[in-house]
Amino acid sequence: MSAQHPVLIVGAGPAGLVAALTLLRNGVQVRIIDKELAHRVGQRGSGMTPRSLELFRFLEVPEVEETGKPPFPMRVYKPGTLTPLKTFPLTPHMDPTPAFPYYNPTMIGQQTLEAILRSHLESLSCYVEVATELRSFEQDEERVLAILAHKNDGMQFTETVECSWIIGADGAKGVTRKLLNLSFVGETRDEVVFISGDIKLSSNSIGREYWHNFSSGTKSLTLRPSNEIGPDGFQFYMIGSGISNLISDHQAFFDYIQSITTATDIEFREVIWVSEFRPNVRMVDKFGIGRVFIAGDAAHVHSPTGGQGMNSSIQDALNLCWKLSLVIKSRASSSLLTTYTTERVPVIAEMLQLTTQILNKTVAPTTSTAQDTLQRNQRMHMLGVNYRLSPIVVDELTPHPEDVDSYGPILASGLVAGDRAPDAPFLKAYVEETSGVVARPGRLRLFDLFRAWYHTVLLFTTDVAWAASIARSITLDPSLVRKVVILPSSAPGGSEAYISDFDFILHDDEGHAFKGYHVGTEDCKVFVIRPDGFVGAVVVGREGLCRYFDGIF
Ligand SMILES: Cc1cc2nc3c(=O)[nH]c(=O)nc-3n(C[C@H](O)[C@H](O)[C@H](O)COP(=O)(O)OP(=O)(O)OC[C@H]3O[C@@H](n4cnc5c(N)ncnc54)[C@H](O)[C@@H]3O)c2cc1C
Repeated sequence: MSAQHPVLIVGAGPAGLVAALTLLRNGVQVRIIDKELAHRVGQRGSGMTPRSLELFRFLEVPEVEETGKPPFPMRVYKPGTLTPLKTFPLTPHMDPTPAFPYYNPTMIGQQTLEAILRSHLESLSCYVEVATELRSFEQDEERVLAILAHKNDGMQFTETVECSWIIGADGAKGVTRKLLNLSFVGETRDEVVFISGDIKLSSNSIGREYWHNFSSGTKSLTLRPSNEIGPDGFQFYMIGSGISNLISDHQAFFDYIQSITTATDIEFREVIWVSEFRPNVRMVDKFGIGRVFIAGDAAHVHSPTGGQGMNSSIQDALNLCWKLSLVIKSRASSSLLTTYTTERVPVIAEMLQLTTQILNKTVAPTTSTAQDTLQRNQRMHMLGVNYRLSPIVVDELTPHPEDVDSYGPILASGLVAGDRAPDAPFLKAYVEETSGVVARPGRLRLFDLFRAWYHTVLLFTTDVAWAASIARSITLDPSLVRKVVILPSSAPGGSEAYISDFDFILHDDEGHAFKGYHVGTEDCKVFVIRPDGFVGAVVVGREGLCRYFDGIF
């Protein structure tokens, strides 16, 4: 039996890789395996939502933002022709605001995202073990015993691994959910066939500045240029019935593209990967049992229309792993882990409804316009996803809601516990250095402070002495909680005397923080920001703060 690892992560797709990185950033060692013999290629989930961009910032993965490209405008052609009918943006462009620095989705192929995440794991001495498949496991109150099968040069051998926890991020067909016997309720749309993949082709008629959408009768084809595949690379989706044969017959596949686009000058170069699937709309009612959890497609499957799957996988992983790391470090009770299910189930149920609505429009295009079907509305940016119903959030100013829209409107009028924590730029920071208290050069934004491995307490006030007394009452390990006081520009001087009570003293000279958090400049309010970037608590003082932290630690 091989040595014990605290966490075994099964599957190195987006969910598994983000889970691994979150745990490692929290100081928890992991082992991550994937049954594939080599890392997968393919653009797959290439639409990154603004919320995911924020979360990658909290995980310190700047390459996602740096590498991603804005989506090309969608160009819809008159059916059966190469005549453009309409050109429109995938989502109407919105300028960033102080509270929402990312308002637009970005495109980054899943293979590129996965490579970026693997490089971060490697910088933390964690390497994805390919050709290693979870076969089965048994768990008791103390541990999990997993049987892994390794493939090596045509040889196969098994290994028994003892670990404390398993995260099954093994995709829709994964074995973890099945071994847990979790129900996977929903439907399979056998009548709808999707074929998708990456292809290389060249054609003067199919330029590289649009996301092309061709149709003919009930069949459709989209071609999205992607230089990640190559200068002649496209990600494609085909939807229709009676197209299953195309996956194995490349000539029929090329003929299909030629006939639906009507382009006569296409030179087909290479099919990089291709897969066929029927949309499944299913989810579990529990995201784990005992010491074994599932995340990502292992827990919920849906149509790729709307581009929410990978993004939801990232949020699952982050939600689970900040909690799991506290439990592993004996800082929190394992009962905290039940909130992974409580918080994610309503969000995923809503996501399934949204993506199914888009699927229905996609397969019945006559009932809606192409723009109506293809254009993503702002709910899909996931900036309104919230945990207002969560039993661990504390709000002293707003009564606990009976019911909420878990995908929420982006521009909610107020900010309550469970909501996404807003950003705020242009904060002047005072820090303590050996030479004394100094104003840091440049300006900070709140998103520079939020990280996936600690809570951040934001104390809004004009009265720094009040904030300092509250900060002193937080006796938790400083590595787990950062304390930040935010003062309005009108605040009297002298706050530097309290510098040692805080990690940062911030002056909100331009008022973005007070405005974004809906705090009057004369008011005192305390917000606790969780490691996953959600507001855990909105309270007015020490008592509320204790109530929140007692529910976590
Ligand atoms: C064509 C297409 C387009 C899409 N577009 C979007 C989009 O724009 N935006 C979006 O958010 N989502 C999109 N999605 C969905 C997205 O690709 C998935 O939701 C995402 O890949 C789920 O990530 P995951 O890590 O949960 O699972 P997966 O990516 O499926 O990864 C699971 C991994 O587990 C491994 N594995 C399985 N079983 C075992 C085992 N027993 N032992 C070890 N390893 C195992 C597999 O080899 C695999 O690497 C799209 C999907 C497709 C197919």
